Amino acid sequence: MKGVAVLGSTGSIGVNTLDVLSDYESHFRVVGISGHSNHELLRSQMTAHQPRLCCVTDPLAFERVSAGGTDESTTLLRGSEGLLEIVRDPDVEIVVLAVLGAAGLPAAIETVRLGKRLALANKESLVMAGSLVMGLAAEHDAEILPVDSEHNALFQALHAGRRQDIRRLILTASGGPFRTVRAEELPDKTPDEALAHPTWNMGRKISIDSATMMNKALEIVEARWLFDVPADRLEVAVHPQSLIHSLVEFVDGSVVAQMGPPDMRLPIQYALTYPERLERSTPTWSISDYASMTLEAPDFEKFDSLRLGFEAARIGGTAGAVLNATNEIAVEHFLDHRIRFGNITEIVREVMERHDVVPADSLDVILEADAWAREQALDLCERVHRRRLNPM
Ligand code: NDP
Ligand code: MG
Repeated sequence: MKGVAVLGSTGSIGVNTLDVLSDYESHFRVVGISGHSNHELLRSQMTAHQPRLCCVTDPLAFERVSAGGTDESTTLLRGSEGLLEIVRDPDVEIVVLAVLGAAGLPAAIETVRLGKRLALANKESLVMAGSLVMGLAAEHDAEILPVDSEHNALFQALHAGRRQDIRRLILTASGGPFRTVRAEELPDKTPDEALAHPTWNMGRKISIDSATMMNKALEIVEARWLFDVPADRLEVAVHPQSLIHSLVEFVDGSVVAQMGPPDMRLPIQYALTYPERLERSTPTWSISDYASMTLEAPDFEKFDSLRLGFEAARIGGTAGAVLNATNEIAVEHFLDHRIRFGNITEIVREVMERHDVVPADSLDVILEADAWAREQALDLCERVHRRRLNPM
């Protein structure tokens, strides 16, 4: 029985993780869970999984949960410090990090610093601090198992050869809801249209990132650090069916792909059980599902975010933190109908161009760049919003 913490258990990845853990109760024990604002779901997860530790990161939600009282067997923790307490608990051997955004970084760092297995969904921690997190993981002999489906696929495909024999890593992208939409129509797409992802069912933030293709930009930076591969060996292929999750090309020209249905429970399970594979009872796939698989080159003109991702991966340093922070702010403003869809990538480019990149060699430097970028992005978003209210 391995002890597991699911941080961000109330989100899309978190719910899928608890689902997988319920299927394999004889292998795993849920030691800790955490939610931010969704106190009702967190309560029902406490009842269903009886974790010894439960953290509520949002102060108002914490008051609601604690006012309702908890089971004697569960200790309630609060805030971001509570997440670290769960990570540090001696019974926790695997941390599934499914917290959204930059808020996941401290828990990622603490997990690898303690040499525990990090099942990493929170790509933002590698985008912001890839060099730091990977360095600590190596120093403390911690395994990082990617949950992000593309990176999980690459991790699996890389077993076919040696690291020094890699020619290219090719990340697939569904192309999102606007793959076939004309570039002129993109800037005015609404949040509802952008949230309607054709193949994956995900949280709101990452769904918008799929629509702008910023998700793939973040994943390029994530892959750069996770696999220690320079940006010029990374590529993107648009694959609308979401069955091939990514490909590795080796120097002899062999291409190894990992495939499977678009269901996040598969990469989550692999990250939990690696190197073992446990049998799943759910139906897998039929040959006809794979009858019309296509791969196409991405449109860098239409999706400028892809260029920004490659730039951040190439430049390194604080570029990733700025890319991520600016995008988080811009997406929030878009979801609140304050800026247009087209403004998201424009604002990220503007802030990245203003930024003087420095080496990201400490958490302080990274958090400083993150805070600077948020301030810049907030200012630009507000200006765009005011212009929309008063066009003259
Ligand atoms: P959701 O928005 O569905 O869930 C996010 C989780 O994080 C929720 O539990 C939420 O709590 C919690 N949370 C939000 N803000 C904070 C905060 N400030 N501090 C602590 N916890 C917080 O997101 P997803 O599950 O879609 O994504 C989670 C992570 O996984 C992201 O990094 C995403 O990029 C990555 N990922 C997701 C994939 C997917 O298929 N969904 C695929 C690959 C990667 P609450 O809901 O209670 O407010
Ligand atoms: Mg992904």
